[in-house]
Amino acid sequence: MATSNQIQPRKVLGKIKPYTPGKPIWELQEELKLDKVVKLASNENPLGPSPRGVQAIADSLDGLNRYPDADTSALKKSIASSMGVTKEQVIVTNGADELITLVSEAFLEEGDEIIVPFPSFSEYDFGAQLMGAEVVPVQLEEDFQFDVDKMISAITDKTKLIYICSPNNPTGTYLPKSDLEKLLQAMPEHVLMVYDAAYSHYATAEDYTDGVEYVKAGYPIIALQTFSKIYGLAGVRVGFGVAPDYVIQTILKVKEPFNVNALAQAAAAAAISDEKHIEASREMNIKGADQLYHLFSELGLSYIQTQANFVLVDLGPDAKKVNDELLTKGVIVRYGNTWGMPEHVRVSIGTQEENQFFAEALRSILNK
Ligand SMILES: *Cc1c(COP(=O)(O)O)cnc(C)c1O
Repeated sequence: MATSNQIQPRKVLGKIKPYTPGKPIWELQEELKLDKVVKLASNENPLGPSPRGVQAIADSLDGLNRYPDADTSALKKSIASSMGVTKEQVIVTNGADELITLVSEAFLEEGDEIIVPFPSFSEYDFGAQLMGAEVVPVQLEEDFQFDVDKMISAITDKTKLIYICSPNNPTGTYLPKSDLEKLLQAMPEHVLMVYDAAYSHYATAEDYTDGVEYVKAGYPIIALQTFSKIYGLAGVRVGFGVAPDYVIQTILKVKEPFNVNALAQAAAAAAISDEKHIEASREMNIKGADQLYHLFSELGLSYIQTQANFVLVDLGPDAKKVNDELLTKGVIVRYGNTWGMPEHVRVSIGTQEENQFFAEALRSILNK
């Protein structure tokens, strides 16, 4: 009998760095015996889940002996009608994360290249590495805006996918329409754009787009959406993509039949038209952003104006220490080392009360 581990994983797995999720509330509570913990680390909706979504889950419980609808047809229909596209232009997945993996599996061969602005969402790199493709990072400009010309010059014969996350996680900056159009027009025919609009509902800039209009106009672009952020349904895992039907057809080939569970389908179909919850969430976010901006200005900290539900703030050389002290006071934010930004933290915008709790903790740490 073999006693040592000789079972070799695929070589490409050696390159993959595990995803670092925000620390869960219960974990910090157990570790430090804290009564109160405020989590501002995963850009979740602090208002809670869409009440309509919750009700739809309750109403679906009796049917759990049945497999979910493999075609997600009811949800697809609601998505298609709310986006003004056809059902054939929609794919529903187990979170947008799954869609990023499926796009990678569907389109990337070993040696292909993907162009990814840096810093951005880490799952794009994961998908490429899984398939043995190369990640070509393009640094954001100094003020964290996208450098479209640099992205265009990075295109080669091997480029398969160009990623844009707008508003961008973790910076909160966005790509203006005119720059997106420039990029789309410069793309050779063998390139697909993956346009991640997970935070689109929070964006207020006039020249922002969620990308769907470019799908309708016939460009090779897949626009990603999630129910984890403004809809407040991160726990049930639903996301979707909108793309030309030939792109959707290809991705469907690698999708598992029952990837989206029945409760998730029901919740998402109800939440998508829950305007009251969406509007309240947006309002809370605008007020919360102002609260954090004021705090950071008062403390003399520089931060980036956000189009999303988080703010990236510069805490200087002591950022790691401040981050750790925030933890001991029961506040979880996201430390920037994973994005090569050791002097920054990303703070998700919470309720007024959560932001206040964070403000008091930060003030006491900085003695201000
Ligand atoms: C949160 C997030 C997603 C979506 O996550 P899921 O929960 O898997 O739907 C996708 N892209 C970005 C940039 C995100 O921040």
